Amino acid sequence: MEITEVRIKLMDEPGERLKAFCSITFDDCFVVRDLKIIEGANGPFVAMPSRKLTARCPNCRTKNHLRAQYCNQCGIRLKEQPIERDEEGRAKLYADIAHPINSQCREMIQARVIAAYEEEKARAKLPGYVSTYEDFDEERTAEAAEPLPKKTPHRKAHSEREQPRGPHKPPEDVTQKERSEPPETAAP
Ligand SMILES: [Zn+2]
Repeated sequence: MEITEVRIKLMDEPGERLKAFCSITFDDCFVVRDLKIIEGANGPFVAMPSRKLTARCPNCRTKNHLRAQYCNQCGIRLKEQPIERDEEGRAKLYADIAHPINSQCREMIQARVIAAYEEEKARAKLPGYVSTYEDFDEERTAEAAEPLPKKTPHRKAHSEREQPRGPHKPPEDVTQKERSEPPETAAP
């Protein structure tokens, strides 16, 4: 078995340990997505795709993640869950969805992915660089069906700098104005 393709999406967030997402293709016929490249103490390593472990709510049976303090569905307060720990004492909050079952395979994946990661970082410096990783939902933001709760908008400082005008306006007015503008996609 051989890895025939590696696709990488660099995260480019300074200071973050998560450096990239990637997908790998085995023998031109089977793809595994959502592997992560993480910066560790001894250099970058590959983390297998994983899911959050959950426990069901005793009231409504909805699954909540193990450290949830309240049920996501019915809102009752939940007791702290006993959490399993691995051999090194780390809390087991995730389970791998796909993973190698021996160290030979783990090392083969690790070597191939890290080599591709280094190549991708070099390619990313060239003009016209585009990642080949297919991004399905990582960057999506849902649209609200009602006005968002009031809070200081993130872009306040920025937009005030761009449009200096008259007296200073309190944040509430800025929020109201931004809300009353039609969304960009509504233009004919
Ligand atoms: Zn519940």
